[in-house]
Amino acid sequence: MSAPVTIPGTREQCAALDAVDPLAPFRKEFTLPANGVYLDGNSLGVLPVRTPEVVRRTVEEEWGRDLITSWNKHGWTELPYTLGDRIAPLVGAGAGEVVVCDSVSVNLFKLLTAALRMRPGRRTVLGERDTFPTDLYIAEGVTGLFEGGSSVLMPSVDDLDAYLDEGVAAVVLSHVDYRTGRLLDMAEITARVHRAGALMIWDVCHSVGAVPIELTACDVDFAVGCTYKYLNAGPCAPAFLYAAPRHHAVAEQPLTGWFGHAEPFAFDSGYRPAEGIGRFLTSFPSLLALSGLRATLEIWEQVDLREVRAKSLALTGLFIEQAQGLDVVTPRRPEERGSQVAIRHPDGFPVVQAMIERGVIGDFRAPDLIRFGFTPLYVSYTEVWDAAAALREVLASGEWRAERFNRRGAVT
Ligand SMILES: *Cc1c(COP(=O)(O)O)cnc(C)c1O
Repeated sequence: MSAPVTIPGTREQCAALDAVDPLAPFRKEFTLPANGVYLDGNSLGVLPVRTPEVVRRTVEEEWGRDLITSWNKHGWTELPYTLGDRIAPLVGAGAGEVVVCDSVSVNLFKLLTAALRMRPGRRTVLGERDTFPTDLYIAEGVTGLFEGGSSVLMPSVDDLDAYLDEGVAAVVLSHVDYRTGRLLDMAEITARVHRAGALMIWDVCHSVGAVPIELTACDVDFAVGCTYKYLNAGPCAPAFLYAAPRHHAVAEQPLTGWFGHAEPFAFDSGYRPAEGIGRFLTSFPSLLALSGLRATLEIWEQVDLREVRAKSLALTGLFIEQAQGLDVVTPRRPEERGSQVAIRHPDGFPVVQAMIERGVIGDFRAPDLIRFGFTPLYVSYTEVWDAAAALREVLASGEWRAERFNRRGAVT
C-alpha cells in the first residue's frame, strides 16, 4: 500500500505532476468553486456533476410518475443492500456485509448495544477522549442502559493496553482522527482488542474514500461510516454499517423496526429479525438521499483506491512541507496519516475566515485547529501549492486580525 510518494518542491513540479496525474480525469466529474480551492471535502464532499440528473429522475420518474410501483419496478426495497454491496469494495468487505441506513450515530447505537449483549459479564465500552464526540455520547447513552455499564475514555489509543481488562465489551475507535488526521493501524489494534476478549468497532467516517480499508482482512467485528464526506453522496446522506458475517446470526440490535424484520411486508405482530445484514435496518432511508449516493457510487466504481492513497499522501506531504514553521499536529509519517492536515493556531478561527476570503476553503475545529482536507479526486497539486502559499501570506501579513473575520456562525 505504501507506494513511493513524490513530494513536489516547486510550483512547476506541481504542474508537471498534475499533467500526468492518473486521477485528473475525475475532476470534471465534480462541481467545483469557480474561483478557489475546496479543502473541506472531509466535512462535506462536493456535488458530482451527474447527481442532479439522477436525483431528478428519482423525483420525477420514480416518485412522480411510477409512484408506489417504484418499490418493485425501480428496486427501491433492495437499495439499502445493493448500495451497501457497492460500498463494500471501498472498505474491504464482501457482498451482504454492508448495509446503508440511518446516521453514523444511530448505527453506532445499534451496534454497541448488540456488542454489549454479545459480551454478557463485560460492561465497559472504551473510546478515545478526543474522538468525534457523537461516538462518545452514544457510548455513554448505550452503556447507561445496561446495569453496571460505563463508557471509559482513554487519553489516547496509545494507552489501550492499560485499559483493556476483562470488563471491556467493546472498543470504538476512529480509523482517522477528525482533528489531527492521525491514521490508526486497524489490523494491529483489532488483533490486540480480540486477544483481550472484546469486540472491535471502527468508525471509518474520515477514511472511507481516502484510505484503502480492509475490514475483512483485519478481522473487524463491526464498522460505521458516512457517505457525505469523501464519498460525496450529499449533505446528510445516509450512513452505512458493516457487520462481520460471523455475527449476523447472533447480533441483536435494539431498534427493531419493520425493515429489520425477516418479512417486512408480512406485517406480523411479532418481531423476527432478518437473517443477514438486513437485521441491522430499522426504517427505510430517505429515497431522495439514497439517489445521491447511487449517483456518486457510479464514480467510485471507476476509482483505484491505491491511486487515491498515493496522491493523498503526496498532497498532504506537500502541504506539510510548505507549512514549515507552523504547528502541524498531523503525523509526518505517511503510514500514520489520513487525508487531512491540521495546524494548531491560537487564532485559528479568524485565520480560516481570512483563508476563505482568499478562496481557500478549510475549516476550524475548536479550540484551536485549522483543518484542511485533501480529496485526491478533485484537488490538484498546484492548488495545494497555492493554498499553502496563501496560508503563509495570511499569517505573515496578519490580515486575519481584521474585525470581519471574527464573527462566528452556528457552524464553524
Ligand atoms: C462525520 C462523523 C460522524 C457523523 O455522525 P452522524 O450521526 O452521521 O451525523 C460520526 N463520527 C465521525 C468520526 C464523523 O467524522
